[in-house]
Amino acid sequence: MRITDDRYTRDRLKLDLALRLIRHEARTCTIRQITTLSGDRIRKLYRAYVAHDSDTQVRRHRGKSPSQPAWFLRNAETRRQAAVLGGLFGLCGLLETTTEPAVVSLRWGALFCSAFETYLRAHSDPCISLEHAWCLLLALRRQQELHFAQCPRCETLGLIDRLKPATAACGWCAPLRQAVAA
Ligand SMILES: [Zn+2]
Repeated sequence: MRITDDRYTRDRLKLDLALRLIRHEARTCTIRQITTLSGDRIRKLYRAYVAHDSDTQVRRHRGKSPSQPAWFLRNAETRRQAAVLGGLFGLCGLLETTTEPAVVSLRWGALFCSAFETYLRAHSDPCISLEHAWCLLLALRRQQELHFAQCPRCETLGLIDRLKPATAACGWCAPLRQAVAA
């Protein structure tokens, strides 16, 4: 394959991935980070293929992307859905820390999209947006705030706040225990 063909294919794959991310309402800064396309090209892509498409109602979000891992632990449902999504990231190999986190390859970006789309298909009422999914992935790779741990009672693998002292039971067992004790 000639270099020009290779560059063309790579550019096309980047545009395809960016369109996929736009349809999930990702912010420009997140799409830029994942595809390395410029903000200008992403905005042009949106205007050319998505903005006037009446079949898709894609909103463009402005402002900062979510960055607080504590958001995933705010209630039992977000914690449960985040654990499912985190598990999918693990299955796709996205949590392997042997790869350099700063380098986001196109394959890596496509795998992230596939994991998120599988999560959406598995939930009738998903509460995690693509932006939050990206935040979760980065947090799980950092392993500083969130990590997976097994509940000693029911052996469920769940998300744990690394900065808080370990509790004896997960979010499902703890209320049950309190009800039994009452
Ligand atoms: Zn438990």
